[in-house]
Order: sequence, then structure tokens, then C-alpha cells
Amino acid sequence: MWKETTKHERNLKIFREEFEGFLPERILDFHVHVFNEGVTAPDKPVSAGGNPIAKYDLNDLSRDLLEVYPGRESMAVCFGFPEPSYDEHRNNDYLAGACDNRRFFAFRLFNPNVDTAADIESDLGSGRFLGLKPYPDYVGKADVHSVEIRDMLPDPVMEIVNRRSSIIMLHIPRKDRLADPLNQRQIRQLAQSYPRAKIILAHIGRAYFLKNIVGNLESLIDLDNVHYDLAMVNHWEVMEYLFRTVPAERILYGTDIPIGLAPGKSVEINDQYTYVTPVPWHLSISDDHGKLVFTSFLYEELRANKRAVSRLSLSSSFLRAIFYENGMRLLASAKRKMEGEI
Ligand SMILES: [Zn+2]
Repeated sequence: MWKETTKHERNLKIFREEFEGFLPERILDFHVHVFNEGVTAPDKPVSAGGNPIAKYDLNDLSRDLLEVYPGRESMAVCFGFPEPSYDEHRNNDYLAGACDNRRFFAFRLFNPNVDTAADIESDLGSGRFLGLKPYPDYVGKADVHSVEIRDMLPDPVMEIVNRRSSIIMLHIPRKDRLADPLNQRQIRQLAQSYPRAKIILAHIGRAYFLKNIVGNLESLIDLDNVHYDLAMVNHWEVMEYLFRTVPAERILYGTDIPIGLAPGKSVEINDQYTYVTPVPWHLSISDDHGKLVFTSFLYEELRANKRAVSRLSLSSSFLRAIFYENGMRLLASAKRKMEGEI
């Protein structure tokens, strides 16, 4: 089994030595991909760090959470896998039906070329979903790097999101990511035009290496409806910079499970980053010589988190906030709106 959980003795050892005394009692993972049987194309499975998976449902997730965080109470924000060739509606319907809004919370995949404002009104209004997951690839431009944030989120849809205080899980486009001036402008525009919408910049705005974040967070600090999830960031200096720069209440723990369960690590080299994995993956350099014993991206992320927390002498209340309370507050506010407080 490719998954790096405490089922492997070496990971249990890491958990006991490094995380048992560090992690709070309750863990809300704000960034998880869940896709039921029949969503992925048979010839195009999801690649979790180079390991093909045809489905990852809530049963898989429940079991894995138990094996990644033994003894902890765990919850997750779940959305489908945003690959345009997959069955988006099958994925959305499954999550809407299977998430209980107590332990598992569903966000809706959103494709601006397929989904109408009326669909979104109905799906957010009925409480089937508390947020949306757009993605650059859904915009359908020949060059995905030319996609802009506003192409991913048309105004009529943002008006609904704003009215309902819903959440946007935003994977920002463009090669320069957080450092891109157009992204910076459009994040500001989005947050200010829709002040009740909650905008989450996934993967800390995809700033997986230090140079991408330094000097680029500052201009967003005054936007109190912009939040940052930590998914797949393995770099302690990036996390330390975030923790030092942004108010704690805007930081959310997330992992990108099931990808986060794969063996590997994200590394910085010469102001760039790549992943290193034991098996070939289209996003990684792989350890062809079998030199290394890996643990999961997820445990590497926790290590980076722990190191940043310790260097900044942050308290256990900071940890409770980022691992649980901040996310629950956002979900509760979206839930209140859906329950008719409009
Ligand atoms: Zn993701």
C-alpha cells in the first residue's frame, strides 16, 4: 500500500515522537479531495504522488484520518477532484448526500462553463454545499497559465456567494502565483467587492518556496475575508513567514488528502520548488536510485508547521485556532446563512 500512515511502523514512530505531544485534540482538515466510484475516467485515474487511484470516498477518508492521527478527533472539508474530464456532477451529488455537515463538510466543484448562477443559488441555498471549489482548468483556455481569477469566478456567482457568506477554495492561477501582480489585484478586488464571501487561498497562494511569499503577503493583510490554507506546504520558512505576517485567525490547516498521504516531500531549489517522490510523478523528480525512505507529504507538512511554531514560540491556543477553531468559525457562518438568516 502506497499510503504513508501509522499502519507502517516507521510512521507510527514519527507520530509518537514528533506529533503526539504537538497536535491538538481536534483536527479539521480544510482541504481534502473526495471522489466516489465512477467519477474519474477509467484511463485517467487521479495520481497521488505517482500512485494511481480510481476513487477516494468518505469511507477511505474516515479510515485514513484514524490512521494518520491516532487518538485524535478529526473532521474535514471535502470537495471533488477538479479535473474537467471527470464527472463533476456525480462527484458533487455524492458529496452533497454523504457529508453530514458535522464531521464532513461539502464544497461544490464549480465549472463556469457548465454551472449556471441558478444552479449555484439552488445548491448553496439548499445547504447542499457551504462553499465552492473553482479551478483554473475549468475555464477551458488553451493556455491554462493565461487564466485569471475573475475568469474562474463570474460576478453573478460571486453575488450569491457573498449573500450567503459562502466559502471559496481558490487555487490561484498564473505562473507567478502569489507574486503575480494581476493575481494580487484581483484577489483584492474579489475580497473587497464581496466582503461577506470567505476567500481561502489554497496552499498559501501556492507559495511553496520562500521567494514567492516574501513581500507578497503584506499587500493582502488588510483583507480580513482572505484566508490561507497550508495544504502541501512542506517548507518551514514559508510557514514561519505566514505565521509571523498574517493574523492567526486567517490560517487554516489543510492537507490535500489523498495526495498528502503519498510518500514524498516538496523541496526548494534555487528559488523554485519541486516535489521529490519515490516513484515517478508528473509534478516531481523521483528517487530512481531508491536512496531515501520517505514519509508522507502530510507528515512533512506537520514537521514544517511544528518547526515554525516552535521558532516563533506560538502557544497551544494558536494551534487550536489553526487546526480547528478558525475553520469551524467559517463553516458555522456559512451554515447560518444557509439555514435562513437571509
Ligand atoms: Zn487540492
